[in-house]
Amino acid sequence: MPRASRPTATPVAADALTVRFWGVRGSVAVPGPQTVRYGGNTACVEARWGGDVIILDAGTGIRELGKSLVRELEDHPSRICILITHTHWDHIQGFPFFAPAYLARQKIRILGWRGSRSGLKRTVAASVESPFFPVALPQMPGTITVEQLSTLRFRIGQVRASAARIHHPGGGVAFRLNTPAGSLVYAPDHEIGCPDPTGGTQPAPARTTLRRQRDIRTLIHQADILIHDAQYTASEYASRIGWGHSCVDAVVRQAADAGVKHLLLFHHDPDRTDDQLDAILADARRLAASIAPSLRVDAAREGLELRLPTRTARATR
Ligand SMILES: [Zn+2]
Ligand SMILES: [Zn+2]
Repeated sequence: MPRASRPTATPVAADALTVRFWGVRGSVAVPGPQTVRYGGNTACVEARWGGDVIILDAGTGIRELGKSLVRELEDHPSRICILITHTHWDHIQGFPFFAPAYLARQKIRILGWRGSRSGLKRTVAASVESPFFPVALPQMPGTITVEQLSTLRFRIGQVRASAARIHHPGGGVAFRLNTPAGSLVYAPDHEIGCPDPTGGTQPAPARTTLRRQRDIRTLIHQADILIHDAQYTASEYASRIGWGHSCVDAVVRQAADAGVKHLLLFHHDPDRTDDQLDAILADARRLAASIAPSLRVDAAREGLELRLPTRTARATR
């Protein structure tokens, strides 16, 4: 399809990793006047490299992404891969409304970690079965395959991908995409663990928890872009230890330690207003400036687009 006819905001560059945010909220969708600027849809991020459309989670944000893809691709078969970190509602609930699934010529590959109790395929299929939804997976006109990851290193087209287990109730993974333009890590739900800001003593973490926290530190090492769970403030975290989410301070410190270049605070708490997110971002930037001045920090918001050109493309611009 000629690029000029792409109706999306900006065409996808052939020599850049392009990242777009379609849903940035954690837990549950929260439309309303308090969430206009950052958005109320749950987790969904689009990454493009080469001809591959890689979708990170299928929260309610995937609905608008699907409409955009249909406008762009019409019914031309394309390479769409949806990576599912885990099957909590806020990461899969938008899938039944993903328009490309209803186009007969589209092939959609869903790839992810196993469902909490049954396999990934069973969990995804069950989420759209009656009485939850009127169209079951086999009835959707597109060709939809669900593959459960059997290895933590795999490829999607020309993208080298890897995954690491997260510390989160029910389990799941975070993903890293390595491209010639740079790397993107997506860790929407993960509890880093940080000292209790009230000075209280916490029980020593289990060995599995420590191993998963270490594995995520390895996964994010020197990432060009890190999209990370930052659901709580430090004071909120004190009463939510073990809930599977991180506090902003800990995320900034870990990103700084890992040599991350650009951190995007993500999985915003559903009770967080736009103004509160502005204040949290300002605090996070102050902390980053004091410990790692080269670390860029932003709060993810719907509609935000990032581009990471290849070194060659950078040099010629
Ligand atoms: Zn979540
Ligand atoms: Zn979750």
